[in-house]
Amino acid sequence: MNADELNPYASPKSLDEPAQNAIPWEPEDKIPPNLDDPVTIATYAYPGEADLKRMLLDQHGIQSLIMDGEVMNLSWFLSNAMGGVKLVVARRDAQRALQLFEEHDNVTDARARVAQTLPPITFRCEECNAEISFPGHRRGKVETCPACREYVDVPE
Ligand SMILES: [Zn+2]
Repeated sequence: MNADELNPYASPKSLDEPAQNAIPWEPEDKIPPNLDDPVTIATYAYPGEADLKRMLLDQHGIQSLIMDGEVMNLSWFLSNAMGGVKLVVARRDAQRALQLFEEHDNVTDARARVAQTLPPITFRCEECNAEISFPGHRRGKVETCPACREYVDVPE
């Protein structure tokens, strides 16, 4: 029997090559050994979102993996049809992971609210002496003066 008939991943191009070279594509970390009983805890339309959440889990020692991410990058426009990217963790970590997401989202929301409530700041440009103002969350940052287009340091 021809080995290629047994291998659904073998492409016609590989017919002339030895059968052992026709290795099916499979990321090595697809199922880490200690990610037993994997469950999907979230689905994201874009791989970037899932990556951020994965980093958060990583920081807290929870191992996770993203399914379909490779495919997604190649054909992101099909993401809805494909159901997006799945973030997968071991069942024993699922509840803690979801709790982390919730805490993280609350912190992010709180930071955004604080930034929005800072009063706008008004000062004189060092270059052209024009009175300029920026939103409160730009305090301590570098901005461009709307009058002379020079860089200005926004006071804290
Ligand atoms: Zn200026």
